[in-house]
Amino acid sequence: MFRSILARPTVLQQPSNVLPSSIPPLRRKLHLAPPFLLEDYIPRYHLISSVDAARKRSAAYAHLRRCNLCPRLCDVNRYETTGHCLIGAEKVKVGTIAPHFGEEPCLQGHNGSGSVFFSGCNLRCVFCQNHDIAHQKVGFDLTPEELAEWMVKLQEVGNVHNINFVTPEHVVPQVALAILAAREMGLRVPIVYNTSAFDSLKSLELMDGLVDIYLPDFKVWHNETSKRLLKADAYADTARESIQEMYRQVGDLCFTGDGIAKKGLLVRHLVMPGKEEEGVRIMQWLAEVLGKDVFVNVMEQYYPDAHVGREKRGPKTNKDEKRYSEINRPVSKEEIGVVQKAARDAGLWRFAEPARHGGWNV
Ligand code: SF4
Repeated sequence: MFRSILARPTVLQQPSNVLPSSIPPLRRKLHLAPPFLLEDYIPRYHLISSVDAARKRSAAYAHLRRCNLCPRLCDVNRYETTGHCLIGAEKVKVGTIAPHFGEEPCLQGHNGSGSVFFSGCNLRCVFCQNHDIAHQKVGFDLTPEELAEWMVKLQEVGNVHNINFVTPEHVVPQVALAILAAREMGLRVPIVYNTSAFDSLKSLELMDGLVDIYLPDFKVWHNETSKRLLKADAYADTARESIQEMYRQVGDLCFTGDGIAKKGLLVRHLVMPGKEEEGVRIMQWLAEVLGKDVFVNVMEQYYPDAHVGREKRGPKTNKDEKRYSEINRPVSKEEIGVVQKAARDAGLWRFAEPARHGGWNV
């Protein structure tokens, strides 16, 4: 098992003239300790000036009129047509809005994370674990103002700990407009940007000052793998660039004393069958480039879905042959262990994981 934030000992300095050197140093037991403990927290979207808010609004509209906002670079006017993501300008399509209890404990807390699951996606992962809403345009349409009303309702009625935008990469302008509208309506909880990491620096520039917690899923290390399994040529390069920018904006994950995360970066990695060496490279990169205090969730819940394991098409194919057969099985405990060990060996120590007492470390 990983050491968690709960278990990390912090040595308190003893004045040498007070205690004999034979007394072992005291060890702080608190799992929430400086520098990761916040006394209080004001969401970043309340700290930007009205001038900067107006600049962001006009930048959002400009992006929609000529959208190159994600690495697909469609260069389309979304008021007239749609690009790769299939979503236009005036409304977003939402699959579900609800308090959600499937996130990390430090995000869902006791009341849930106020999740907005957007339909559509700018990736085409062949194993998509959410393909009913990500690859099919199902759900209901909302303007940014209507979305803002839902955000405030999640806060007031659901008492959620945050607003969690799931798969927002293709609707960043509408999300920016919704956050700015919601702050005028009384929104007070942090914003979570829950992404595949297939973002662009332009979209992250638009989000800078509006997002409190970045929650990227760094999926694969090699561009060849992303080409085959995510249908995106340069995913890995893009993810590395995007995650560095996210970290520059918000830094390490910080909590208030109730154990709820309020600001910072939390990186996820879903271990995939036969791809554990890519997970190892991701863990090493995180420790080397972002530092050993980066908060990580090594996820174990991969299962074959979407196109994986379906019959191959075409007149000459053998009926027994399955598509993407190399990932058509659950991930093994050994594979997960390899990535977990690599994370520890790289010096990472802040993990989202079940606690030994059966509950959750937060
Ligand atoms: S957000 Fe949509 S329209 Fe814009 S570049 Fe990406 S896929 Fe294309």
